[in-house]
Amino acid sequence: MVGEVNNELLESLIDVEELYQNAPCGYFSFLPNGTIVKINRTFLNWLGYAEEEIVLQKKFTDLISKGSVIYYEMVYLPLLKIQGQVNEINFDIIRKNGLCFPALINSAVIKDKTGELRAINVTVYDITDRKKYEKELFLAKSLAEAEKKRFEFLTNLIPEIIWTASPKGEIDYVNQRFYDYFGSETSGFSAEYLISRVYSADRKKTVRAWLACLKNGRDFHCEVRLQNKSDGYQWHLLRAMPYRESQGDITKWFGSCANIHDHVIALQRKDEFINIASHELKTPITSLKAYNQLLQRMESSDKVKDFVDKSATTLSNLHFLVSSLLDVSQINSGQLNLSLSTTSLSRVLKHSIELISLNYSSHQIVEEFDKTEDLLVTADPQRLTQVMINLLSNAIKYSPNSNKVVLKVTKNESRSVAKIEVIDFGLGIPAEKVDLVFNKYYRVTDTKNNNRVSGLGLGLYIIQNIVKLHGSRINVKSEVNFGSTFYFSLPITEES
Ligand code: ADP
Repeated sequence: MVGEVNNELLESLIDVEELYQNAPCGYFSFLPNGTIVKINRTFLNWLGYAEEEIVLQKKFTDLISKGSVIYYEMVYLPLLKIQGQVNEINFDIIRKNGLCFPALINSAVIKDKTGELRAINVTVYDITDRKKYEKELFLAKSLAEAEKKRFEFLTNLIPEIIWTASPKGEIDYVNQRFYDYFGSETSGFSAEYLISRVYSADRKKTVRAWLACLKNGRDFHCEVRLQNKSDGYQWHLLRAMPYRESQGDITKWFGSCANIHDHVIALQRKDEFINIASHELKTPITSLKAYNQLLQRMESSDKVKDFVDKSATTLSNLHFLVSSLLDVSQINSGQLNLSLSTTSLSRVLKHSIELISLNYSSHQIVEEFDKTEDLLVTADPQRLTQVMINLLSNAIKYSPNSNKVVLKVTKNESRSVAKIEVIDFGLGIPAEKVDLVFNKYYRVTDTKNNNRVSGLGLGLYIIQNIVKLHGSRINVKSEVNFGSTFYFSLPITEES
């Protein structure tokens, strides 16, 4: 025996009357004929009756609605007699003032020694709040269903393929156009099916790009060959944007898929034409330049000299243009190769500044790096100069209202990497366009003054590829009307 129970303590434990009266749920007991013989204070308060108005005065059926009375007689009582207890029954209870409230009833019978039914004990839970929430939930669900139907109706009107995906990237809806276009069964859609439609060589890059967008929440944009019902593999543009709730969490991805085959083929033809044309143009331009140099050395009047100088400048611009087009075709065909060697970074920077200063006198190039030390990097000096000239000339071209550009070189803590920055205080680039400026032929056209600067939109595309071939990546930070910083890093092989 663990210990003795004191009699007084035992009595106070048994005295549960107070608990019964003030319990958070209603209690009452009734005889098999329905007459209520005991009821607690909580339930009386809910009903609005005094105890003497209920006990031996009212039957259970007096306290419930007509519908509940039918259920009481047809289901509840027979069940109680068979099972001895009935739980979680819904009854509408009528208060003294005639108003009803929904209640959940649990009941258990009391029998005498002979097994005769003596009374029924009942607990009552007021479920008004629960019913209210259930109603609100039902309403919200109906609204969501209606919204979904409207969305589906709209997406089926659009001639484009529309799809949605969960925040994890699982495609959970495709519109009717998808099934018509790919000729698949409406019931047969799955992520695997979609992947099977992607041209095998494009699969890896598509999945990788999609996973990267899911990870960083950025817009998805991927050109990929997909096999449709009638035309075999064709180029398509897959796009998706994350939908964020007010707290910023992504709750859905909304996507589209458009056939851009004709456009891509036209671009390919254009690239092929540019490739051939620039190759053909390079030889005559080189000989024209040579003749021009000869003319510059010959005795002539000032007027002729002026004409010859002007034609030399025009020829240089033409040469630069054709070289850019050739670079692009080499990049397109994967034939842009570097001649890597141990290169003095300071010398490349100095040379680039000299060349830039010959063409642009409007801006001062502020050199923010230690000119006494030389950093050696593994690079193609000619191509690296091309990168620097492009960045510096852009910095000058796109800052018409300022007169300086900063060229900065910093080393990381372990002095193993040099970071090269070209900083301007010019027009800047709108945030939504920053990632696009490295695209082929892309030019920002909506910035004030930007339209006045001539260009092909190829420079950043070319130098991005050159920097990539050096094992690095060119980046940009920019703010409209404050300026831009283009930067990239190179590993240092040696310092002197
Ligand atoms: P281009 O200068 O011939 O147009 P680029 O490829 O060098 O081609 O640049 C692409 C576009 O990026 C430019 O048209 C311009 O809109 C924008 N851009 C490049 N550099 C800067 C800069 N430093 N400041 C503002 N905009 C820039």
